[in-house]
Amino acid sequence: MSHKRRSSIQVSVGHVRVGGDAPIVVQSMTNTDTADIEATARQVQALARAGSELVRITVNTAEAAAAVAPIRERLERAGLSVPLIGDFHFNGHKLLREHPECAAALAKYRINPGNVGRGSKRDPQFAEMIETACRYQKPVRIGVNWGSLDSDLLTRLMDENSARAEPLDAQQVMRSAVVLSALGSARRAEELGLPHDRIVLSAKVSGVQDLIAIYRDLAGRCDYPLHLGLTEAGMGSKGIVASTAGMAVLLQEGIGDTIRVSLTPEPNGDRTQEVIVAQEILQTMGLRSFTPLVVACPGCGRTTSTFFQELAARIQAHIRMRMPQWRREYQGVEEMTVAVMGCVVNGPGESKHANVGISLPGTGERPVAPVYEDGAKTVTLKGERIAEEFQEIVEQYVTRHYARRAVDA
Ligand code: SF4
Repeated sequence: MSHKRRSSIQVSVGHVRVGGDAPIVVQSMTNTDTADIEATARQVQALARAGSELVRITVNTAEAAAAVAPIRERLERAGLSVPLIGDFHFNGHKLLREHPECAAALAKYRINPGNVGRGSKRDPQFAEMIETACRYQKPVRIGVNWGSLDSDLLTRLMDENSARAEPLDAQQVMRSAVVLSALGSARRAEELGLPHDRIVLSAKVSGVQDLIAIYRDLAGRCDYPLHLGLTEAGMGSKGIVASTAGMAVLLQEGIGDTIRVSLTPEPNGDRTQEVIVAQEILQTMGLRSFTPLVVACPGCGRTTSTFFQELAARIQAHIRMRMPQWRREYQGVEEMTVAVMGCVVNGPGESKHANVGISLPGTGERPVAPVYEDGAKTVTLKGERIAEEFQEIVEQYVTRHYARRAVDA
């Protein structure tokens, strides 16, 4: 699928390309203690298997830095080449200096210019991290965060603003400080020798309108690939809706080369949800295809049973479970759509538009379920085993309609 892009620069993060004509990359971040090698490697694997193409880990202590190379080794042993990104803050310069195997094992460094050091330490510590990136030939994400904005820059802009004849409101000054911090840090990194095509920018904020305004401004002023994401998006539907609302507007304008959906998981919740949501944003916008879409009607008073909801959930779960193997074996299967509809009002019509569709009987309708493949009715299911039989029909459709990929011997 093509996508109008503003970043003309392409950055290689390990084997993954970000920006230019590359597909928009999905990334995620672990929430384990990085020093816990076992737990972090396990979570990176889960995120990568869910579809995260880049995974970021916190590198905040000497123990965490020492764990990075062993985590990388474990992933390689498990056959996972997903690039790891190190998230650094105040002591990043020191950790990279003292743990060269960490500096080498990471595919990219994330540096927050507002958190590299205070006062006179800030510039030399930033410089040391950039010089390390140059030495190891690693790209860097300059990741500004609204919550840790360079206070000197903000104070200077606020002072300049109050001296204007018609001062801007404080929010506009903040937005412009975020943009200037990102661009100024990128310029400084280039002055220190980091090549132009090894820089990705991000400007994380927690408000949707701020996100849109800041990224539009950034995209208009530079050609670096942009990492999109709303920080502190929140839990559950609030986090999903806020992230989708902000990112969808920007993605539609061609802004954004890699995305992360920062969801606060429920206690002991599944971290991979952020990957699935990111994929669903891109897929429902028609920007990428990851997994077959299950189209299900919302249900209404015509369907008093929950059977069709259960069938839709079951088919969705079956597809997700089968997808790793299908993806390896069948070309284009990620573009398949499966419709599960609750009655004859819209059921047959929607089912005909899908690759495979089933229209279940609504309340008072004959207990039969016509199945459609590529718009034509192929069979009518009835009885107790509708779910199993429909699942089998989907399996057979995949094997018949998608070309087998050449599998390495
Ligand atoms: S397809 Fe039928 S059951 Fe589903 S929402 Fe429409 S009318 Fe209701």
